[in-house]
Amino acid sequence: MKRILVTGGAGFIGSHLCERLLNDGNEVICIDNYFTGSKSNVIHLLENPYFELIRHDVTHPYFIEVDEIYNLACPASPVHYQFNSIKTIKTSVMGAINMLGLAKRIKARVLQASTSEVYGDPEIHPQKESYWGNVNPIGIRSCYDEGKRCAESLFFNYHQQNNVDIKVIRIFNTYGPRMNPNDGRVVSNFIVQALKGEDITIFGDGQQTRSFQYVDDLIEGMIRMMNSRNDFHGPVNIGNPNEFTMLELAEQVIELTNSKSKLTYLPLPADDPTQRQPDITLAKKELNNWEPTVQLREGLTKTIEFFDNLLKNPK
Ligand code: NAD
Ligand code: UDP
Repeated sequence: MKRILVTGGAGFIGSHLCERLLNDGNEVICIDNYFTGSKSNVIHLLENPYFELIRHDVTHPYFIEVDEIYNLACPASPVHYQFNSIKTIKTSVMGAINMLGLAKRIKARVLQASTSEVYGDPEIHPQKESYWGNVNPIGIRSCYDEGKRCAESLFFNYHQQNNVDIKVIRIFNTYGPRMNPNDGRVVSNFIVQALKGEDITIFGDGQQTRSFQYVDDLIEGMIRMMNSRNDFHGPVNIGNPNEFTMLELAEQVIELTNSKSKLTYLPLPADDPTQRQPDITLAKKELNNWEPTVQLREGLTKTIEFFDNLLKNPK
């Protein structure tokens, strides 16, 4: 049994990770400031004596003895990370420094949840880890993109300078149950709008693309990365290479929910990437043939069921 710290563990991805780590027989300590996460995401874990939930902000140091750290704390939806952009940068940068300092002191392995956003509005398609990206350093997404890029830099500098045992994954758009219905991200927006019979909000002409990964596939990739060979540090893309336009996504959601919702077109936010698709050759090679197994239709069906229940029984 390992003792594992998960920062941002009360969020969408973090709650699935805590659950899986507990199921695998580990002890899990979850720290979260509840900015975008909530106790309700992990309430079903609270009766497990090997789970601890602690209110803590990662911009402040945290002291504990653990074997592994998964650093997920950071709002992930543009609406939320732009709400207090300076705080978002602090969370990524100071959170990374605090977790790396902790890992250094206690000699723990530490995994950073980085993002496909480090590629910005990519000019190389699909994106390989060797691509350095195309990020506007002063745009409205920069608090997130540059915060995450700086965190990656910190991870590799702590490794090179202090021999900290690091792992870095770049997560591509991930969806699934326990996304916040007010999260603002496209999958949750479209499903909630379709279920309520409201207009589906297409930003721009809807021709921009994303590649959507179901959360269970991400968790499997994350755990394989944490347990990968000692001299592999990444960064490694973890995503589903099947790429869709936002119009295609809207059509699938309308069909699967039998919704009468119509499409409405709103302005495209600044610096919104036009295309995104992971090249997962490296993940397959290094992570024991890891690849996504849940395709969009199946994943959407499970996510629609979750939101349908939530709307009928609000918490
Ligand atoms: P989320 O917003 O549901 O989860 C983030 C969690 O971090 C929340 O519980 C929030 O309360 C917590 N948090 C935020 N600031 C904090 C702070 N200062 N101190 C402590 N806790 C804090 O988002 P998510 O989708 O679960 O994302 C989790 C991680 O994965 C993030 O680091 C995100 O950048 C990364 N990621 C997610 C996606 C995706 O598509 N979901 C894609 C790329 C990267
Ligand atoms: N989007 C949209 N309608 C919405 C929310 C988002 O058309 O209600 C678009 C958004 O402009 C972007 C894509 O969907 O092109 C994915 O947006 P999201 O915020 O989910 O993720 P990110 O842009 O960070 O990949």
